[in-house]
Amino acid sequence: MNKKRVLVTGAGGFIGHHLVTYLKKKGYWVRGVDIKLPEFEASAADEFLQLDLRYFSNALIATQGISEVYALAADMGGMGYISFKHSEILYNNTLINTYTLEASKVNKVSRYFFASSACVYPEYKQLRAKVTPLKEEDAFPADPQDAYGWEKLMTEIMLKYSAESSKTEYRIARFHNIFGPLGTWDGERAKAPASLSRKIAYAKLTNTNEIEIWGDGKQTRSFCYVDDCVRGIDMLMHSNYKEPLNIGQDRIVTINELADIIADIAGIKIKKVHIPGPQGVRGRNSDNSRVTKEIRWKPKVSLERGLESTYKWIEKLVRDQIKLEQNA
Ligand code: NAD
Repeated sequence: MNKKRVLVTGAGGFIGHHLVTYLKKKGYWVRGVDIKLPEFEASAADEFLQLDLRYFSNALIATQGISEVYALAADMGGMGYISFKHSEILYNNTLINTYTLEASKVNKVSRYFFASSACVYPEYKQLRAKVTPLKEEDAFPADPQDAYGWEKLMTEIMLKYSAESSKTEYRIARFHNIFGPLGTWDGERAKAPASLSRKIAYAKLTNTNEIEIWGDGKQTRSFCYVDDCVRGIDMLMHSNYKEPLNIGQDRIVTINELADIIADIAGIKIKKVHIPGPQGVRGRNSDNSRVTKEIRWKPKVSLERGLESTYKWIEKLVRDQIKLEQNA
């Protein structure tokens, strides 16, 4: 039984909520912190504090008596969000990360995990759909596409310099499109797997077959299931590896292919209607050679299997929503 006291920030969000469940199963005593409670089921955390980490006093409360911090709190969302809210994202996330880091030093935290992102990689390496998978050293010379990526890179640098003068051990993962059930599925913060699942479920349940896709749908990404992600966080946190590592799938698909896989799972034929919308970089994939070599992590859940559980969860929510609209 592991009774280490750990903190998960962003525990009301998608990955943070899954991570709390995972760490509880491993026997940790877990404090969850977020500005909001998890939306879809109760947190498994031993203690859940609703705190705004943009204030240093709150970051001090959050990190008190804690030996490991998993810093996942962030103002973020899918393309529809991070492509437009640059200044808010830069401001909020700089405060969250600076204060959580500084408070962890004050409270003598022994290990600190930071959830960085594939968005740190420079745009000039991601101009083609058939993109070369991104290696960790590709982050420099830096040119992330959005403020979101610049802030993540800046926090990586803050951690690097903090390591020179503090006893805390720092670990950094660059997540590549994490998806799964219990995540945002509606609105501007939803990401492609959830948004497409919602649109396809809606098309199925209302007997329409058209779904809208932003751009020509030929932009490419890799998608990693959340169970693989939280296992990767644990493996990296408890490894001796100190540099940033990719946590992602290395199977690349176009957004059109992603929609086709989900439509197959739903058991319907869809007609894709391509409309203008934010698409992010043209192509992105993860090079997993270093993460495999250094910590022996590999994703285990196939895209099809991950999408099946995600789609089923979202179809039920869409069914409930349609019923509500019919009864209104
Ligand atoms: P999420 O939006 O579901 O979770 C983030 C949580 O942070 C939210 O619950 C939010 O309420 C909380 N938060 C925001 N502002 C806060 C504040 N001021 N104080 C306290 N809490 C605050 O996002 P997620 O998908 O679970 O992502 C978790 C982490 O992983 C984030 O740091 C994100 O940038 C990073 N990441 C995620 C992905 C992905 O594909 N999901 C990819 C790359 C990086």
